[in-house]
Amino acid sequence: MKYVFGSDIGGTTVKLGLFDESGELLDKWEIPTDKTDHGANIVGDVCESIKSKMEEKGIASADVIGVGVGAPGAVNEDGVMTGGAVNLGWPVFNLREAMEEKLGGIKVAAGNDANVAAFGEMVKGGGKGYKNVVAVTLGTGVGGGVIIGGKLITGATGAAGEIGHIKVDDVETEKCNCGHTGCLEQFASATGIARLARKRLAKDDKPSVLRSAELLDAKAVFDAVKAGDEVADEVAKEFGRYLGKGLAVVADVVNPEIFVIGGGVSKAGEVLLSYVEPEFKNTAFPPCSGSKFALATLGNDAGIYGCAGMVLSEN
Ligand SMILES: [Zn+2]
Repeated sequence: MKYVFGSDIGGTTVKLGLFDESGELLDKWEIPTDKTDHGANIVGDVCESIKSKMEEKGIASADVIGVGVGAPGAVNEDGVMTGGAVNLGWPVFNLREAMEEKLGGIKVAAGNDANVAAFGEMVKGGGKGYKNVVAVTLGTGVGGGVIIGGKLITGATGAAGEIGHIKVDDVETEKCNCGHTGCLEQFASATGIARLARKRLAKDDKPSVLRSAELLDAKAVFDAVKAGDEVADEVAKEFGRYLGKGLAVVADVVNPEIFVIGGGVSKAGEVLLSYVEPEFKNTAFPPCSGSKFALATLGNDAGIYGCAGMVLSEN
């Protein structure tokens, strides 16, 4: 039997997975992310953890097809972190080569964490069975990954798929984290939805359960939607208009078969899609407007599945 490892490096933990050659998860575990010394120990820690798992399971290097790694920053086709990784303190360096060196020549495939998670949703999750997939992560920000013909699109600097920064509003004056204004992320992320809700409530006195919500977040908004709250419905419609419009831009460029929506906000379930799809269909160029919509299914494991999927797709 041959094996593949996946390692999804996040700001607080590194998620690791051991897979068989068909991409089935055999074991998963986590180690803390050591951000001291500009994250200089992280690559070594990940490789040591993989090597000790090999020892524990009696796996020889020759039986490891490869190791996939996802990291929070732009990663180009050669495995270079082209802008470093701000969250980890990393400078610009070649992540793939650094890991291959520490793993004694085992082949490594490296990618941006959101892109890798998108790949995971294609191979084992909400986009299973499709080869043209756009995955959208609605979390603190809005991330994404574009897979066309079964291949991850990384672009010139590895920053392809950053759909959270598509400009969807010309009026917004508040700045996005990226420095621009009117980015999709400002309206469709968890923080964006909470902001839309606060703005809506401040507009008038219309009664709403949201006024007495202990925490006015995306979950509160969609819970209120499900309970029939009219103000929450208005907020969700506004969210849907922005996300539908942004995804229509994406569809006009890459024409995916399916959009897979994940991240914390997607826990609201199918009701969320019902606010996005109509606006999408009305905005996308008609021949591109037939994309399906589905919810992500792998949750936090999407990254390690994608890491394994990248390695297996290259072999
Ligand atoms: Zn932005």
